[in-house]
Formats: sequence, structure tokens, C-alpha cells
Amino acid sequence: MKTFSRRAALLGTGAAAGWGLSRWLGPDLPVYDGTARVAAPSGDNMLNDASGLSATPVHKHLIVREDAGEALVAAVRRELDEARAAGRPFNVGAARHSMGGQAIPRDGTAVTFDNGAVEIDSASGTYRAHAGARWSQVIAALDPAGWSPKVMQSNHDFGVAATYSVNAHGWPVPFGPMGSTVRSLRMVLPDGDLVTCSPSENTSLFNMAMGGYGLIGVIVDLDVEMVKNTRLSPSFEVMEAGKFAGAFRRAIEDPEVTMAYGRLNVERETFFRNALLVTYRETADQAELSAAAGSGWMSHAASRLYRAQLGNETLKSFRWWNETRLAPVLGSGEATRNSLINEPVVTLDDRNPDRTDILHEYFVGFEAFDGFLEACREVIPASYQEFLNVTLRYVAQDDQSTLAFATGPRIAAVMSFSQELTQRAEADMARMTRELIDRVVALGGAYYLPYRPHATLEQLAAAYAGAGSFAQAKRELDPQLVLRNNLWDSYLGRL
Ligand SMILES: Cc1cc2nc3c(=O)[nH]c(=O)nc-3n(C[C@H](O)[C@H](O)[C@H](O)COP(=O)(O)OP(=O)(O)OC[C@H]3O[C@@H](n4cnc5c(N)ncnc54)[C@H](O)[C@@H]3O)c2cc1C
Repeated sequence: MKTFSRRAALLGTGAAAGWGLSRWLGPDLPVYDGTARVAAPSGDNMLNDASGLSATPVHKHLIVREDAGEALVAAVRRELDEARAAGRPFNVGAARHSMGGQAIPRDGTAVTFDNGAVEIDSASGTYRAHAGARWSQVIAALDPAGWSPKVMQSNHDFGVAATYSVNAHGWPVPFGPMGSTVRSLRMVLPDGDLVTCSPSENTSLFNMAMGGYGLIGVIVDLDVEMVKNTRLSPSFEVMEAGKFAGAFRRAIEDPEVTMAYGRLNVERETFFRNALLVTYRETADQAELSAAAGSGWMSHAASRLYRAQLGNETLKSFRWWNETRLAPVLGSGEATRNSLINEPVVTLDDRNPDRTDILHEYFVGFEAFDGFLEACREVIPASYQEFLNVTLRYVAQDDQSTLAFATGPRIAAVMSFSQELTQRAEADMARMTRELIDRVVALGGAYYLPYRPHATLEQLAAAYAGAGSFAQAKRELDPQLVLRNNLWDSYLGRL
């Protein structure tokens, strides 16, 4: 039996070092005001996340390594009881890549699950994963048996329960968010009850916890659908951005296409005028698939170029040429499904201590995509931010999650910015985010909740029709509000 480690309550130690999180968990992130350094949040009790901008005091931080059995449930209950008795919040996180304190309980008990147990059930086409298992561990378990995760993010660092809790999506098609691939899960409720939830059992708890950011219960394990791993071959299509929605829809409707994504050019002069559509189909020969590889040389070369384009319009054009003309000819050939999704975030890592990568994501209907392009052209280049990349994905309609962001079939635009660690840049980012959200909501779309908490409360309520009923049901389930994080404190708890 593994240990429930109180020693790891010391922040920035233990798993933090092992997972390369030291930069985020470290207490003394510098914040610059213009060129002058201003006071940084500091102290042993500060917890941060992938943005480096969420330093929040916590009472303690525990790394929990038990298998998902009685001992884990008992440990969770004990900590919940203690937090409740002291009137403190409690919240579980995994890789801590959400960027706005969505996994941090202010002055409360923060728990990080660290256990990669995965058990395959080939007969039912599912695997049982510990809530804290990372996708790299799931792929490592499934790949030798010829299986692959059905839906996960484009990087493999994230936790499985965390993925369900933000209801993330990936680029395999034609699927909805990851929650739609969960057959059942076990969860400790705020009062300590252990319940099994599925689309047919405790359905409303299941739907609230899906994309419920850890506010409904503490998930201990999940049964998740898998698909056969396959060898795939890519096709590349370059077009005017205005033609993308139609081409993407046709690709999604093509039963032979099993993975698909798009890109848009990012030079300021011609921002979002050109598009690239990449589709993957199974090759004729599916014998002897090679073991899942990590980032290939193409990914590493691409990441160098990704960084070098910062503030350099010529290199942005070069990168676009490289992606649309050179890469298709050079080396982006056949790969297994597992190799394509076995990508660590670190490949894109920015080692510049004065900047941080900030993601945004917007979901719009196919018919609204041209309006979305228009909005982005008007808002983004006029801002002070360095725009690095946009990837376009497909998300099928989600009829399950109470906090659904895909209330119809959606094109998801995942955007990556490099933000200066200055107050000026932070204020500019907040202003730009609000402008974009207004435009997206006016188009019937939504923004994604795991990123910076820059939306207004009104914007959250407008983008998430289920937010009010979620908050009401949460209060009934958890009257003492023991499961809390910044998403509750800043938004849902104020509805
Ligand atoms: C580089 C990068 C790429 C990304 N790509 C994608 C993408 O392709 N598609 C996409 O949809 N998203 C993407 N995201 C967003 C990502 O899915 C979320 O940030 C997600 O939260 C990351 O998982 P995590 O393990 O870091 O979660 P954490 O930040 O640790 O936690 C996220 C939420 O899950 C809850 N939670 C965690 N574990 C449990 C548990 N056991 N029980 C109950 N609640 C729990 C936490 O309380 C928190 O609210 C990306 C983010 C980054 C930084």
C-alpha cells in the first residue's frame, strides 16, 4: 500500500520536483511592472498552477499515492472531515495545468493525486484508471495491448479525472468531449458518501461532475472507453480561412477520417486569412504497429520555430510555409494513433523566466465560424499580446454535462499566447479576453473555463446556460461548501 504523505504538504517538493512542476509550485514567481520588479507573492504556503499567475495561500498541500481502494476513500473522508470541521475548503488536482486556480482551495486543503494504475478490460472495450493517472500512463498501459484512449487532450500530461472534470476534448473525430467516453466512475461526495455514477446511475451527479471542476465530489477511479490503436497517414489541405468550416465539416462526415485538426496563419498583416486542414486515415496495412513514440524530431524542430517566431513577423511567415508546404513533403508521414497523442507539454516549453504561455479556447458553431474569424481579426492583432498559435478541433454536441460548452456541434479554437509577466500585459490580456468572449457569446458560442479567470460573471452566465442550476444543485449537495476552488469563489458561488 502506498502512503498518504503528509510530508509532501511542504509545497514545491516531492511530486512537484518529479513532475517538473517546480516553476509553478515555487512560491516566489517574479511579477514585473514595466521594467521594475514588484513584490512577488511568497511564502511556504503558496500554491500556483501552469500560468505561474495564480499564487494562492493554502492551509496544506498533500500528495496522495494510495491505490483507488478503501485506504484512498478513507484518506479522502478524513481530510474532508477535517476541512469541514475547520470551515476550510478542500480540492483535488492532478497536473495543475488549469490556469486560474481551478484546482486550488484558498486557505484550504489542496490534494494532488499521484497514482498511475490502469487496468484493461478488453471484453468491454474499457479500462479502469485511477483518478490521478496521467494520459502518458494510460497510453503506456494500453499501447502494448493494441488499444488507445478514445478522447483525450492533444498532450499527455493531464490527469484522467481532471480531464473529465474540465470535460476536455481532443482531436480524434467525430467525438464529443471526454466525459462522453466515461462508462462509470466512483466519487466521494462532500458528506463522505462513496457513490457510483454513470449515464444511467446517479445521472445528475454524473452530469454535474462532468466539467464540474471538482466541485461535486472527489473522483477516485473511472471506467473509460478505448478504441483500437491504428496506423494512420496524414493529408494536408491549404485554403482560404473562409473555406475552412465547410472543408472541416466534410472531413468530419467522412467515416474514413479518424483524426483531424486545422491551423490558421498568425502574421499580423494577414492574420487568420489562410487555413490548413490536416486529416488522418487508416493505412491499408495495420500489421505490427510500432510502440507509441514520444515527440519526433519534427515536433522538436517545430517547437524551436514556435519560440523563435515571437515578435518576428518573418519567422511567423516562415513557420506557416514550413507547416503548409515543407512538413507535408518532408517528414510528417505515417504514425500510430498513440504516437500522435503521446505528446508532452514540455516539447513546447518556454524557458524564458519573463514570460508565460497562456491559452484561450473558444467554441463556435460551423455556421458562426466566419463571424468568429472576423472577431479575432478585429480584436487580437490590436492587442499587445504575442499570438503564438491556433489549432482548430471538432467537438460533437454534448447533451450530458450541466456546464456544457458544446451545446451543438462546435469548432474549437485553441489559442496560445506568450504573455509578459508584467501587470501591463496581464491587464491587456484581461481586456482582450473580455472583448473576445463578448464577440463569441454574441455568435452563440462559449469560452473554455480552465484558463485565466478574466471573464466577467455576466459573461460566464451568458456562455454557460447551466451555470445557475449547477450552483443551486451544488449548494444543496454541499451546504457547507467544502469543495471549493477559484472557479467557485470568483464565479459559480456568486450566481
Ligand atoms: C499545453 C496545454 C494543452 C491543452 N490541451 C487541451 C486540449 O487539447 N483539449 C482540452 O480540452 N483541453 C486542453 N488543455 C486544458 C486542460 O485540459 C485543462 O487545463 C486540464 O485541467 C488539465 O488537466 P490537469 O491534470 O492539469 O488538471 P488540474 O488543473 O490539476 O485540475 C483541473 C480540474 O479538475 C479537478 N480535478 C482533478 N482531479 C480530480 C478528482 N480526482 N476529482 C474531482 N475533481 C478533480 C480539479 O479540481 C480542477 O478543477 C490544455 C492545457 C494546456 C496547458
